Amino acid sequence: MLSSLIDLILPPRCGGCLTVGAWLCDGCCTRIRRLQEPLCRRCGAEVESARPDCGCRRRLRSLARLRSAVAYEGPIEHALQRFKYKGWRKLAGPLALLLAERLVVEGLAASWAVAVPLHPERARSRGFNQSELLTSELGARMGLRRPHGRLVRIRATPPQVGHDRLWRQNNVRGAFNWQGPHLAGRSILIVDDVATTGATLEACAAALRAGGSGPVIGAAVARVTV
Ligand SMILES: [Zn+2]
Ligand SMILES: [Zn+2]
Repeated sequence: MLSSLIDLILPPRCGGCLTVGAWLCDGCCTRIRRLQEPLCRRCGAEVESARPDCGCRRRLRSLARLRSAVAYEGPIEHALQRFKYKGWRKLAGPLALLLAERLVVEGLAASWAVAVPLHPERARSRGFNQSELLTSELGARMGLRRPHGRLVRIRATPPQVGHDRLWRQNNVRGAFNWQGPHLAGRSILIVDDVATTGATLEACAAALRAGGSGPVIGAAVARVTV
């Protein structure tokens, strides 16, 4: 309530550098680092030489593809932090636009879009789900609809930050469940703000596949490059 009031009163301010005038200023847009080819065709990670799979197939079994628009660094890191932790909801538009551009360039499409859910307790304390806002904006830009039903987080999981790949995978395995009608083999885009190893998106994809979906593509605005 308060934040939406502030949105009405205050002029836009850049989520990257705080300059007044736009939610993501031109200067920051030029400093954002796009991921460099060659990329792994499956998980979208920057790799030494082009190949269909960087070794990710063993751990990303349910995700058909994983794509991120930009590297998680510089202005985009600041913007995503402000979006997620400071409640700068207006950043959903420009951030989703970056992601939409990447997906269109790569020719990736899906029937439906679904957001990575927060556990209800975290959603309550934060007041919103950043992935939901991104999914709405992305859906509007790409003409993606939402399926009936919902993907739910069936247990709270400690944050993934600071842990290795195997720990992350085990932490989120089985944490999600599709509650709704059978997904009828439709292709689905599962959307999050940041991807690191892709473990969370993979766990969501496993739940959607179990719910009857077709191929699931993971899409995150930014990729933590390790
Ligand atoms: Zn800026
Ligand atoms: Zn890969």
